[in-house]
Amino acid sequence: MKKNEEYEVRITDLNTDGEGVGKAGAFPLFVKNTCIGDLAQVRVMKLKKTYGYARLIRVLEPSPDRCDARCSRAAACGGCQLQQMTYEAQLQFKTEKVRQNLRRIGGFDIEVPGCLGMREPWHYRNKSQVPVGRSKDGRIVTGFYAHHTHDIIESDGCALTFEEADAVLRIVREWMEAQHIPPYDEETGRGLVRHVLSRKGFATGQIMVCVIAAGSVLPYYGELLRHLKTEIPGFTTLCLNVNTARGNTILGKETKVLYGPGVIEDEIDGLKFTVSANSFYQVNPAQTAVLYGKALEFAGLTGNETVWDVYCGIGTISLFLARRAKKVYGVEIVPQAVEDARLNAGRNALQNTEFFTGKAEEVLPAWHSAHPGEKIDVIVVDPPRKGCDEACLQTIVSMAPDRLVYVSCDSATLARDLKYLCENGFRLEKVQPVDMFGMTVHVETVCCLSHQNKDFISVPYEPKDADYLKQLN
Ligand code: SAH
Repeated sequence: MKKNEEYEVRITDLNTDGEGVGKAGAFPLFVKNTCIGDLAQVRVMKLKKTYGYARLIRVLEPSPDRCDARCSRAAACGGCQLQQMTYEAQLQFKTEKVRQNLRRIGGFDIEVPGCLGMREPWHYRNKSQVPVGRSKDGRIVTGFYAHHTHDIIESDGCALTFEEADAVLRIVREWMEAQHIPPYDEETGRGLVRHVLSRKGFATGQIMVCVIAAGSVLPYYGELLRHLKTEIPGFTTLCLNVNTARGNTILGKETKVLYGPGVIEDEIDGLKFTVSANSFYQVNPAQTAVLYGKALEFAGLTGNETVWDVYCGIGTISLFLARRAKKVYGVEIVPQAVEDARLNAGRNALQNTEFFTGKAEEVLPAWHSAHPGEKIDVIVVDPPRKGCDEACLQTIVSMAPDRLVYVSCDSATLARDLKYLCENGFRLEKVQPVDMFGMTVHVETVCCLSHQNKDFISVPYEPKDADYLKQLN
């Protein structure tokens, strides 16, 4: 086999990145933008010893899972990977991905129920974070990075983010053109505007715009403000985030409020949240309620428990737990998020909470050794993609809570961490994938573990959307 040769392959599987797998003779090829069942004409792009990558040239026989992508840039844009697949097939893929990671990496042979899907898998994101650059012909462009590159795919609209996000980007582009404000150039380190971040509170309609720039002054922003105020209903605040560092980290540490309160408000399942530009906040509020409902069910709280929420962000899970627990402790690394968490606890009159700033792997061991013998009933962890630090896992093992709820956005690191926990006294009881990120390969998973020496009692919890969820399963 050689590069640039074309083959006909039948796609028989998907890898965990959502790429179709098909064989040319006996040689496996990975092909993006395909579905299981497609017969595809493909061109070999890259060869490794035992497998290769090929590009889809034409679908010769479409799979029953295939549908038309809604977005014209879907194949080029790195944001979505699964638009060519029906939503049902996407959910099946996600369930299977979790099952396979748990089996292959963790060695678990546990039942994985169907991934809980969304009612409407479009325009579900409350956050848009988009790079700004210049096209070859010199225009200011906004868009998304192509797969594995920093080339901007120009986009006139994203089918996943909230509806107003496109108008915000248009206003920023027009303002930059009119005021001759240069976009930042990653290669040379020159220029000013790097990214535009906007967020909407779906429950309140409030919209925040944050310009991320390589300088601490945003020239002529009065003009930008005027357009945002008159053209974006719900616009409430404008911020400037200063990021002077080279490299691809999007947000800098310092955020200046140029107009309004610098935060937006939102509500999930009756709890009010204040969110600032730098804080992590779940991007899909409708499914967040479903996810947290499951986490709460798995936590099995009766009102007397002492709970730790590790990697707590702005305290969203913590407050869900605090409504049903005696005491909730939270730990989070971003100071601004911890401030938000304390504020949110106050606004919801949940005084049975206490938040710590710092690394989970440092704060949790320090707290544990300062409080020997204090019983922790439940621990919830919700780490970033890289999973939990081993020092954090070790401490959890020695704290020996009755239950451990693991919320994960990466089922590979989840499987690795579960393996460690189950080799050290825990038992995996239940797994539930939840779809927070339709059209992408990402899947959220919530797991329930019990401590081996204690009986596991299942506590039923009926989420608000129970009928709908049943129907999907
Ligand atoms: N549970 C929250 C946030 C989960 S995202 C929610 O559902 O909204 C993971 C969080 O972990 C982020 O807020 C991130 O800032 C934080 N984080 C990342 N590394 C950390 C570490 N080593 N120690 C503590 N928090 C960390």
